[in-house]
Amino acid sequence: MPRESRIQQRARATEILRRLRRRYPDAKCELNWSTPLELAVATILSAQCTDKRVNLVTPALFKKYRTARDWARTPRETLEREFHSTGFFRNKAKNVRALMARLDAEFGGELPGDFDVLVSLPGIGRKTANLLVATVFGKPGLVVDTHFIRLSNRLGFVKGETDAVKIERALQKIVPEKDWTDWSHGMVFHGRRCCLARKPDCGNCPVSDLCPSVRAAGAKTG
Ligand code: SF4
Repeated sequence: MPRESRIQQRARATEILRRLRRRYPDAKCELNWSTPLELAVATILSAQCTDKRVNLVTPALFKKYRTARDWARTPRETLEREFHSTGFFRNKAKNVRALMARLDAEFGGELPGDFDVLVSLPGIGRKTANLLVATVFGKPGLVVDTHFIRLSNRLGFVKGETDAVKIERALQKIVPEKDWTDWSHGMVFHGRRCCLARKPDCGNCPVSDLCPSVRAAGAKTG
């Protein structure tokens, strides 16, 4: 694919999103939750773990822990045991307790809706903060996870880039702000269902004519 201008990149991104919306009309966050605190916990648990596994673990937790104080006052060892099957359980237990203690002490037990406040809280990085503002508060957010990183490279919007913050900044200039959330969901859905890490299904891809990596169809690609 020849070198594109920024205008051409934006036009290509708009067309990619149009097609992904058509392919995945129900694209959304696949973690189960019913309150902002629940999504915050589920998102922390989803690090290095599948959403499917998290969704198996969280129903019992959400029944038991209703408020930030409930979480914050639970002994770390108990949470470690309950988080065990999601991996990295020690860190996750530490982060959930610290986050909930801050929310209880400083925010009336509620999750704040401001991105900059969210990223200042324990256990909340940019990816989680973007997911929370986008999913809970309906604000635009680019949620740069492993699928987003892989697809941004394969689609040629970044080159050999693995730094999530750099990719977020690059895509902010290409995807219109109003579409950031849909773009994020589109990347995850497409990455999970078609543009798989080991074997992208380029023959069944709705954006293959817009993708510089299409020739790698069927082969292992990075
Ligand atoms: S053409 Fe292939 S590499 Fe490109 S987005 Fe589609 S599945 Fe992924």
